[in-house]
Amino acid sequence: MKKAIFLLLITFLGSNNLKLFGQDLMYARACIKTLCSEPFYGRGYVQNGDKVAAQFIRQELAKHKVIPLGEKYFQNLGFPVIYYPNEVSIQLDDQPVFAGNDFILNPGCPSIKGNYKVLLIDSSMVDNTNEFNKIKGLNLKQYFLVVDDLKGKPFNHPERAELILKNQIKAKGLIFKNNKTLVWSPAMEFAPYPILYFKAGIFPNLVLKLTIRVDAAHKIHGTQNVLGYIKGKIQPDSFVVFTAHYDHLGKMGNDAVFPGANDNASGVAMLLDLAKHYAQNPPPYSVAFIAFAGEEIGLIGSYFFVENPLIPLANISLLLNMDLMSTGDDGLTAVNATEFPYLFEHLNLCNIAGQYLPNIAPRGKSPNSDHHYFTEAGVPSFFFYLRGNYHHYHDVDDTYEALTMSKYNEAFRLIRDFAGWRMTNYLPIEKK
Ligand SMILES: [Zn+2]
Repeated sequence: MKKAIFLLLITFLGSNNLKLFGQDLMYARACIKTLCSEPFYGRGYVQNGDKVAAQFIRQELAKHKVIPLGEKYFQNLGFPVIYYPNEVSIQLDDQPVFAGNDFILNPGCPSIKGNYKVLLIDSSMVDNTNEFNKIKGLNLKQYFLVVDDLKGKPFNHPERAELILKNQIKAKGLIFKNNKTLVWSPAMEFAPYPILYFKAGIFPNLVLKLTIRVDAAHKIHGTQNVLGYIKGKIQPDSFVVFTAHYDHLGKMGNDAVFPGANDNASGVAMLLDLAKHYAQNPPPYSVAFIAFAGEEIGLIGSYFFVENPLIPLANISLLLNMDLMSTGDDGLTAVNATEFPYLFEHLNLCNIAGQYLPNIAPRGKSPNSDHHYFTEAGVPSFFFYLRGNYHHYHDVDDTYEALTMSKYNEAFRLIRDFAGWRMTNYLPIEKK
């Protein structure tokens, strides 16, 4: 009994502490776990997984009493997608191999079904004219060519190697067999032919028959950015904006799910945690939260917002985009540091004052996440990502269980302090 009371007291003090420091790692973890769970289907285009995620984010924003923007927190948009809602299966000489773990398809891989012959193209076959003509003389529609041995080799006839690597000789498909990791991406259009990427050690030296079935589908996908704000107490027309994309790659067939825990359930969790924090601690400027759709397929959600802003872009005094936020043992990288040196200097000062992260690395402009179109439109913006010992990227192993969240608290406080510094200066809005 006494122990129970003691635990209750600890819990009570703990929750007070959380309020004091702002961040809530337990809450962030719970958000990530939910976003990576089965009913979210990898937050892609199979079973409208991204829509399930959007509903969850909207619900959380409402819970924190964030004021809705758009239509009940949604800004609707659409784009074409290729997706894989049904079968994706391969057998090598009748032995099954598994999508996601053993192999992946190329982005936009077209539908295919049947039995095919497999031919290993040795680099010597490229330079030997007889051998090369033999390959060209085959009925290549019946073949998948294993071509990874051709990469990076010097040839007497480099144009022949190029012909094979780009499949201008019109084989049914290509196979690259020695990949360290299987990194996938979504696509808007069908690729011209299937390419199969196998993890190293999976594809046997000798294979005679490849049995394959890929059910690819195409649709115009209706989706949404999810967004709201907390009104500033002193200068409500000025905004600090936090952004994080919530979409990921979805599924590849019936079994392979890409959960996207680090990319970017972690950033969404921090976004929601920041909303929770500012709801409890009303800020001097208005603070907006935008969870973007369609980042992985080409920054579509953020592009759409910049073209159709629901906050005047000129009123944004700082935009912080968070993508890949689960590590931090090696520090944080700030994309756009060289674009906004004055702001970057203060980011560093905040980090030194709080002794948060071991290092803040400056990086130049890069169109590698949702800050990009804001930067182009003249909004002072950064893309923050954390660095550490984590190597899962766009693969099926980027799971909730794999995350350490080792510097989440420190990164949260740094971001809170930096945004706070920007808001306590009551600067007139800077134009770039
Ligand atoms: Zn990402």
